[in-house]
Amino acid sequence: MSTARPGDDLDLAVALVNSACPLAEPADRLDGLDHLRRTFADLGEPALAADTSPDDLPSLRLLRDRLRGVFAAGSTAGAARLLNGLLRESNAVPQLPTDGEGPLRLDWGADRRGYPALAARLPGALAAYVAEHGVQRLGSCAAAPCSCVFVDRTRPGNRRFCCDQCTDRAAASAYRGRRRAR
Ligand SMILES: [Zn+2]
Repeated sequence: MSTARPGDDLDLAVALVNSACPLAEPADRLDGLDHLRRTFADLGEPALAADTSPDDLPSLRLLRDRLRGVFAAGSTAGAARLLNGLLRESNAVPQLPTDGEGPLRLDWGADRRGYPALAARLPGALAAYVAEHGVQRLGSCAAAPCSCVFVDRTRPGNRRFCCDQCTDRAAASAYRGRRRAR
């Protein structure tokens, strides 16, 4: 059983979606598994990406696109339709830990490794999040052409950008716009 804290799989879902970004070099970092392995290791889940193989890349890209759709759904019903499809297709069956240790939480990828684990766990984590919080705090970066997604964990819930660079880029572009207007 995975020992990840609740919420961790949500970060993995964000990381997978953001492996495609027009501002990154290359724009699609799922041209191999290096980026995913590095990112997942940084998030404390090295085994999950290490157990994927190059044969999984087409499936990983498809899962990425469909998870991106959840962040862009804009409504709980839209997100639910996408997530239900993903959960059904991956035969995700949430399991409770039986070892009596640690916090009780649902494990969506019990006894699975590599891509099959990801295909169940990432939609499972998003579904659990949406069930509790809705979709209001699932966002996409407002600094075009960036399309990175995020979970807004700010207190007021008004986050618009994926990262500091995009916040700065948007501020600079707004400043240039104001100067031109004068
Ligand atoms: Zn961004």
